[in-house]
Amino acid sequence: MKNVGQILFLLLLVGCTLSVKETPQNTLDQIATEYVKLALAIGEYDEAFIDAYYGPDSLKPVNQKQEVFPKDSFLLTTKNLQKKIKSFTETTENDTLAHRANFLLAQLNAFEMRIKIFSEDYPTFDEETQGLFGVTAPTFTKEHFDQVLRNLDQALTGNGTIKERYDNIVDKFIIPAEKVDTVLKTAISESKRRTLEHIFLPENEHFTFELVKDKPWSGYNWYKGNYTSLIQVNTDLPIYISRAIDVGSHESYPGHHVFNMLLEKNLFNEKGWIETSMYPLYSPQSLIAEGSANFGIEMIFPGEEKAQFCKEVLLPLAGMDTTGISNYFNVLKLKSDLSYAGNEVGRRFLNGALTEDEAIEWLQKYTLRDEESAEKSLSFTKNYRSYIINYNYGKDLVQNYIESNGGTPDNPEKRWELFTWLLSNQVLPTGLIEKE
Ligand SMILES: [Zn+2]
Repeated sequence: MKNVGQILFLLLLVGCTLSVKETPQNTLDQIATEYVKLALAIGEYDEAFIDAYYGPDSLKPVNQKQEVFPKDSFLLTTKNLQKKIKSFTETTENDTLAHRANFLLAQLNAFEMRIKIFSEDYPTFDEETQGLFGVTAPTFTKEHFDQVLRNLDQALTGNGTIKERYDNIVDKFIIPAEKVDTVLKTAISESKRRTLEHIFLPENEHFTFELVKDKPWSGYNWYKGNYTSLIQVNTDLPIYISRAIDVGSHESYPGHHVFNMLLEKNLFNEKGWIETSMYPLYSPQSLIAEGSANFGIEMIFPGEEKAQFCKEVLLPLAGMDTTGISNYFNVLKLKSDLSYAGNEVGRRFLNGALTEDEAIEWLQKYTLRDEESAEKSLSFTKNYRSYIINYNYGKDLVQNYIESNGGTPDNPEKRWELFTWLLSNQVLPTGLIEKE
C-alpha cells in the first residue's frame, strides 16, 4: 500500500507541475524568490543585512562562503533582477502586481547601495539615504539649533547651564535599576491593551523580553516569524520613565512586533508573497518600520495620556515620587525640537565634516547628552550610519501622511484605519511623500 501511495503522490506532483502556467503572478513570484535568495547570500557576509527571515531554509545559500566579499557578483545579480522587474512592469497591466514589482525594485536599489557601503565605497550622507531609504532628510543649520537652545534657556528655570537645569528636571525620573524590568513589562502590556482596542492581532502571537547590555542600540525587536518576537532593551544607560513607554511600545505594540506580524499575516500567509519573509534592514521598509513604531506611541498615548499613565501607574510601581512630572513632560516636548540635531551630527560626521571628538561635542551641546550617552549615540551612527533618519524623519513622514489624508487627532477612526493600512501593506517612503 505504501508504494501505491508514493506512486499516486508522484503522479499528483507531475500533474501539478504540468498544470502550472506561466502567468504574470508566477513570473513575479519567481523574481521575488530570487530577491530573497540574493539577500540571504549577501547576509552571509554582511551580518546586519537581514533583520528577519522566516521563510523556507531551501532559499538559504548552499555554496560555501568565499573569502572575499563578492561585491561585483552581488551587484551584477542585483542589476539583473532590477532589469527583470523593469521589463515586467513594462508589460503588466495589473496594478497589484505592478505595485509589488515597484516595491521589490526600491528594495533592490537599497541592496545596491548597501553592497557598496559594505565594500567601504562610501557615498555622501544624502546619497546614502536616497539609495537606502529613497528619501533625503531635511537639513538644519547650526544656527537653527542655537535658536532652539536659546528657547530652552528661557524656558528652564533655576541656576546653572542649560544642561544642568535640564538634568535637574529630568534626572528625578530615572527608573531605579531594580525596577526597570517590571516597569518596562507593565508599559508593554499597557501598549498591547491599547493597541488591541484598534488592531486585530493573531491569537497565538507572543514575545519574549530580555534586558541586555553592551549594545549600540537602546532596544531591538528580533522578529522570529509565526507571530513571535524577541524584544531586548539595553540597560547600559539609565532609563527615564517616559523612555520606558517609548522603547517598550516602539519594539512591541503597535511598533515592530505588530508591524512584522501584520505583514506576515496579510502578505506572507494570505497572499504567499515570499519577499515578506525576509526583512532587509537597510531598505525603504525600515523607514516605514521606524517611523510607524515612533508615531505608534502617540497613537496609543495621545495628548497627555503618556504623562497620565506615568503618573498614575509607572511611577508608583517604581516607587518614585510624581512631583514635577508635568514639567518633565513639558521639557521633553521642548527638547524634541533638537531631535534633528542627531541627524545633523550623523550627516556631518559621515561626510567627514566633523571629527569624532567634534561629533561628541555637538551631541553633548545640541542633544543635551552627557559624554557617555554622546559616545553611545555616535557608536550607533558608526554602526548603522544614516539609518538614524528613519526615527525622526520616518515618524514625520508617517504622521504627515496620516494627518493629510484625514487621520487627524480628532478623527481617531480614520487615524487607526490609515495607520493599520501602513502596517499591513508594501508601502514605500516615496509613496508617503507623493500622496501628501
Ligand atoms: Zn526600531
